[in-house]
Amino acid sequence: MTAAPEAPEGGAMRILVVDDVEDNVEILNARLSSRGYQVITAMNGPQALERVDEQPPHLILLDVMMPGMDGHEVARRIKANGALPFIPIILVTALTETEDVVQGLESGADDYISKPYNFNELEARMRAMLRVKRLQDELDLKNRELEDANIRLKKLSITDGLTELFNHRHVHELLHDEFERARRTEEPLAVAMIDLDKFKSVNDTHGHPTGDVILYETARILRETAREIDMVGRYGGEEFIVILPNTDEEEAAKFAERVRAAVEEHVYRDGPVIVRMTTSCGVAAAAGGVASSPEELLKLADEALYQAKHGGRNRVVRATQSGDVQAESEAAAAPPA
Ligand code: GH3
Ligand code: MG
Ligand code: MG
Repeated sequence: MTAAPEAPEGGAMRILVVDDVEDNVEILNARLSSRGYQVITAMNGPQALERVDEQPPHLILLDVMMPGMDGHEVARRIKANGALPFIPIILVTALTETEDVVQGLESGADDYISKPYNFNELEARMRAMLRVKRLQDELDLKNRELEDANIRLKKLSITDGLTELFNHRHVHELLHDEFERARRTEEPLAVAMIDLDKFKSVNDTHGHPTGDVILYETARILRETAREIDMVGRYGGEEFIVILPNTDEEEAAKFAERVRAAVEEHVYRDGPVIVRMTTSCGVAAAAGGVASSPEELLKLADEALYQAKHGGRNRVVRATQSGDVQAESEAAAAPPA
């Protein structure tokens, strides 16, 4: 007879023997131990569950007929516990208990052997089950790795690589969702478009890598200024967008002003290089029928941003005011009547 298979983590396979008759436990304990298995024992159902909780065995030999909680209930509970790995359960039943076998396999046991049993047959069944367990454990591991990879992939697909903010495409998805939600709940919704001023000259003067540092730092300032529920994205090269749920235009303007002030006060450093930056910002809200679609909301914020640039940069312009600014500048530009 070959020696007992080794546990995947090294060492002996742990077998839990459950039986309310002490002699039965002792016989199995002696024979399995002599074959190189590590045996743990339980004399009743609750004790068996405790053992499993302490350290899941690789296999359970489970007596069916026990006072109190019987083997079926023990099997059911173990198989229902999603936190446990796959633990093969072999029921040990009296020969006459056909009904028990059916019920046992239905309650989640994986195999059975009838008393009186031939020990070699029992061990052969154990080996077969331990092979199944090994495959199942490998499958579980692969599935977990796949799930992790999927989560990482999903995160990558919605993240801007440089700033770690949401990327352009995901911002659009979020904005559509938020717009629908705001419509349903009749809550206001605002967006802030934030663009670094004269960013090109930073690249020209200090080089692209310093520009990248500034983009990353600006993203950090935005994240720190935003609330937990706000969604911060990189909309384009040096243009950022913040979706502000349950926020009207006035509140959005206050948020944008905090960002503007924070950037203005921030000293950007890249090694010995020190750079000061400012931002221009346009805000718009969807409340009160101001914007009737996500696209229109973006357009209004973008127009307000344009006005902020036009009006001298380092400032916040609200969409509902930007028309006035435009009207004023158009009036100024119009030839006298
Ligand atoms: P304005 O105040 O009108 O916004 O001027 P600006 O110079 O900020 O705007 P402009 O659109 O003229 O230039 C944006 C620059 O941003 C040009 C582009 O090379 C740079 N840029 C875009 N993406 C990146 C990036 O990922 N890294 C770096 N370093 N620069 C970038
Ligand atoms: Mg019994
Ligand atoms: Mg710019």
